[in-house]
Amino acid sequence: MREPIIYYCINCGVCCNRLLIDRQEVRKGLPLLPGEVELFRKANIRPAYGVGASPKDPGFEVIAYQMRLNTCPHRRFGGCMMHAYRPSICRSYPFVPVISQGLRVVKTFDMTCTALKDRMIDYPEDSVPVQAASVEVENAYYPAVAAITERLLENVDDAWFYNLKTGRWVPFRRLLQLNKLKP
Ligand code: SF4
Ligand code: SF4
Repeated sequence: MREPIIYYCINCGVCCNRLLIDRQEVRKGLPLLPGEVELFRKANIRPAYGVGASPKDPGFEVIAYQMRLNTCPHRRFGGCMMHAYRPSICRSYPFVPVISQGLRVVKTFDMTCTALKDRMIDYPEDSVPVQAASVEVENAYYPAVAAITERLLENVDDAWFYNLKTGRWVPFRRLLQLNKLKP
């Protein structure tokens, strides 16, 4: 049986100071649901995913957003200045949603979290971390990410991702390809 690892955030701030993820030609920022864009200044918000024949189409619809900075502007004086209102991804972290090989959204964990990494050293390789994730995250965030992903996959030929590295939209298929996923 896999052994659970209970761990506690030590507020090191690492996760709030390395928000950008670079993978080959693509850069992603802190993922935000549409209802979360107002948590950051407008100048720091970029689209993340959209659906439409072309991003220039009048009917093109942005369905998810991202924050463009590597260091979160809300991390100050050794803490999160909007802890009670922080985005769902921050509530969930170090658990993060990913698209599995079966093209489903699953919960995995980020081993670069300092607290988690330190705890894992003392446990067998197949142990599973346990976090007191909020009910809100469990009940609302993952289904919301799953709904966005389903929409992208249903419209895979008209789905797009906004690359922070180039400031341009790229076909969602390219992102799937980079993750070795086939729709
Ligand atoms: S909103 Fe708060 S928890 Fe989220 S990255 Fe910013 S400082 Fe960190
Ligand atoms: S990296 Fe992990 S331990 Fe550090 S602040 Fe983020 S969640 Fe907490």
